Amino acid sequence: RAAVAETGTILNSLNNCLDLGGHFMQPRIELAHLHEFEREAQHSIRADYQIRDFGLDGERSWRRAAPRPFYYPVTFMEPPIASASPVLGLDVYADKKLQLAIDESVMTQKIIASAPFNLVEGGRGYILFKALFNTSSPSADYFTRQQQATRLVSLLISAKNLLHADELPPSNMTMRLFHKQYQPDDVSGQIYALNEMKKSSVERHLLPLFTYEHAIPSEFQPFLFETQRQIGWEVFRLSGLVVSACVTLLLTLLGAMAFNWRRMQQEETRLANELLYRERDRAFVTLRSITDAVMTLNSDGVVEYVNPAAEAILQKKLADIQGKQVTAVMALRYELSTSKIVDPFSQCIADQRVVDLPDNAVIQDNDGQRKLIEGNVSPLFGSQQEFIGAVVAFRDMGPIRKKALEAIEASEKRLRQHQVELAHVARLNTMGEMAAGIAHEINQPLAAILSYNQACIRMLQSDDANDDEIIQAMKSSALQSKRAAEIITRLRAFVSKKSSKTAPVDLNQVIHNVLSLSEHHLKDFQVITETELMYGLPVVTADPIGMEQVVLNLVRNGMEAMQEFPTDARIIHIQTAVQESRVVLTVRDGGAGIPAEVLPHLFDPFLTTKDNGMGLGLTISYSIVESYGGTLSAKNLPHGGAEFSFSLAIRYPNIVDLDLSERE
Ligand code: ADP
Repeated sequence: RAAVAETGTILNSLNNCLDLGGHFMQPRIELAHLHEFEREAQHSIRADYQIRDFGLDGERSWRRAAPRPFYYPVTFMEPPIASASPVLGLDVYADKKLQLAIDESVMTQKIIASAPFNLVEGGRGYILFKALFNTSSPSADYFTRQQQATRLVSLLISAKNLLHADELPPSNMTMRLFHKQYQPDDVSGQIYALNEMKKSSVERHLLPLFTYEHAIPSEFQPFLFETQRQIGWEVFRLSGLVVSACVTLLLTLLGAMAFNWRRMQQEETRLANELLYRERDRAFVTLRSITDAVMTLNSDGVVEYVNPAAEAILQKKLADIQGKQVTAVMALRYELSTSKIVDPFSQCIADQRVVDLPDNAVIQDNDGQRKLIEGNVSPLFGSQQEFIGAVVAFRDMGPIRKKALEAIEASEKRLRQHQVELAHVARLNTMGEMAAGIAHEINQPLAAILSYNQACIRMLQSDDANDDEIIQAMKSSALQSKRAAEIITRLRAFVSKKSSKTAPVDLNQVIHNVLSLSEHHLKDFQVITETELMYGLPVVTADPIGMEQVVLNLVRNGMEAMQEFPTDARIIHIQTAVQESRVVLTVRDGGAGIPAEVLPHLFDPFLTTKDNGMGLGLTISYSIVESYGGTLSAKNLPHGGAEFSFSLAIRYPNIVDLDLSERE
């Protein structure tokens, strides 16, 4: 307020001065009149008077004015300031800052304030100019007008006392006056400053700074007055500080909690999304790669998606199917159907349960061929258990049927082959045992032939030879010869076969083969088999077919032994195990056990208690097991039934040859 008042007073006094007359004027001196003027001035003002420049080209020194078209030299100073006396003779128009204000005054005929500058005697100041003309109506043309401005009145204002206040402001309060055309932080625009503020104090960064700006309501002096006050720490009282610190802390905590909570939520959402995308991707990849055809429908039976397998069966592309009714996309017909069949899609949507496609469902493909389709329609439920659509999973049964038939044929072929091989080896192994038995058998016809021949000889040697009797004896002898020949033929049939091969044998596999070979028999005999096969059983060295022969014999004997027993007791238990580096195979039955009189001769050839038995099975089995370094043994179980078991050494190195199809 003080500054404004002061400036107001100054302006008044300036106007007053101007009213007084031309005492303060600076004349306009044309270059042509320079010397003449200087001479006159040396008389009237000062002996060494000269028109001079100061501080031009950045040099703070006085110099004789350079030749210029005209000058506005200082000729008068009121009050006379001793320290400022060098100013006499200064061409104010030479100074660019002043020149601007002078020109403006010439143009506007108004009082114009110059930009502030440093005063020779110290401090800042500025000059108010007013141009006076030698005519009452100056020309509009600038040059003419300038020539008409023959006098200049200037009032130098020292800013030192301008901002006067009764009391100095506190140290944390600044007061500044600056020229409006300059930025507040441009020092060249600054006229006056009191208590200049430190720019980088802690308070400046942390506490508020109050600024008040006021434009001086003056036509001539376009100045801004600014006062700033930096709030210091002292304004906070301790209790207030504590309270505000607590509040700040609380707010910070709450803020941090809210931030964390949001972060966690975002993270959870991100993870959930990621999981969802991964699941979706996986489901999508699965759907694309499975060979079954899959089609998804919305709750109105409109197709949403089909996988490539479905595209192939339907012979349509996803893009052509999407958005169409399923009944239009997959027109099912029912072969040889007598009653009306409700379409399975509508049925699934109506009942919201899984509906199988009817057994006789077919679709017709583009070239009129019918495809037998198998599959089902399953309802889809949302998270709230609401019905949202259905999935149709289906497959073309044509290729599957063909494959199944081929597989059955191949398996039957293998089975036949296997049986042929088995019979062959059976004969081979029987050979040795048969030889003994057959020798015994041959003995009988030979003995008979011998006695017939001896009888014939006797009869022929006797006198009363009876032809009929001789012929009869010879016929009988021939018959016996034929029988012997037959026996020999049978023996040769055995001998002619090749001998067996050894190989690594997995006895578990042998058991599987035997059980599949005797499946029909087991069914006929109504016998159940139980297996207890050791996982990872080591292999042994043997002829795999021979081993099957042994196991088959044991299983068959077990079945026959239980023939008279109730069906639910007809159980054969087969077990494999390892004992002391040998593989043990055991076959147990629930029959009557081996008769006491048979037990000591069990493995002798031709010993049988059966009407149609040969009495060779166990003999052959014994010799097969023995030929691979094992012993077949038998015993009766305490609670009834017989147990047969044999063991073979584990083969080293233990190599499994599972490919049974390659054996001879
Ligand atoms: P086959 O079966 O032709 O009689 P085997 O050598 O296989 O010839 O059997 C000899 C005899 O051993 C049989 O007749 C039967 O008396 C007896 N035997 C074999 N296995 C068993 C068994 N599991 N239970 C009771 N007796 C058996």
